[in-house]
Amino acid sequence: MLQIKNLHAKVEDKDILKGINLTVNAGEVHAIMGPNGSGKSTLSAVIAGNENYEVTEGEVILDGEDLSELAPEERAHKGVFLSFQYPVEIPGVSVTNFMKTAINESRKAKGLEEMPANEMLKLIREKSELLEIDRKFMSRSLNEGFSGGEKKRNEIFQMAMLDPKLAILDETDSGLDIDALRIVANGVNKLKSDKNAVIVITHYQRLLDYIVPDFVHVLYNGKIVKSGGKELAYELEEKGYDWIKNEN
Ligand code: ADP
Ligand code: MG
Ligand code: MG
Repeated sequence: MLQIKNLHAKVEDKDILKGINLTVNAGEVHAIMGPNGSGKSTLSAVIAGNENYEVTEGEVILDGEDLSELAPEERAHKGVFLSFQYPVEIPGVSVTNFMKTAINESRKAKGLEEMPANEMLKLIREKSELLEIDRKFMSRSLNEGFSGGEKKRNEIFQMAMLDPKLAILDETDSGLDIDALRIVANGVNKLKSDKNAVIVITHYQRLLDYIVPDFVHVLYNGKIVKSGGKELAYELEEKGYDWIKNEN
């Protein structure tokens, strides 16, 4: 599904990604771990097409198509979902209305008509029940005064509605509380299938107690320096990242 080949990227004249190779197949969950500043968030931004980062070499291929010339919206329409892409507060726009607009924009880009209102309602009901999201939450203003857990719930709801082919969850380094972790993990576990793939980016092992990855990769200084199965996450938890730094 996703092939990253010799990817190099820089921001403000600083080389950040220095030759990333990664293949993700449908049905797989990959975890990307690594010390702070190693380029994890940069990698997710580059896959999603964030224009602040300049790709200087290599390619990102989704279903055989090179994404390099595509804008972030176009990548989204092809099924790439990056968490935290819409962290904005929009007073007066409800979670439901925001989602309706996003779905219809995506349909428009594909040359489809707007989703009929009854179908939209059915989809919203189905996904909010699946994720155990309270009805009251759906009418709240987007992100306005949301707690960390509520932001996560909203993000996972967006993911459920958009049904992406490739979901990238960048958990950043800010401490998520245990409820937020469970919301993310339950959502991902319920939404994953043999037709989609998930990349979970995390600094800590604890999220991987809930989302069990098929593969774990360690990103350090802009390169994947080690790959393994889920046991690699435990090894990192136990030994920290210093041994990786010393080896590289
Ligand atoms: P991680 O997510 O692994 O902590 P990042 O991808 O956020 O790492 O950052 C990698 C490096 O790139 C860091 O040295 C960071 O300071 C730098 N960097 C990332 N984004 C920017 C930016 N927009 N401007 C300047 N430097 C950046
Ligand atoms: Mg960081
Ligand atoms: Mg980061």
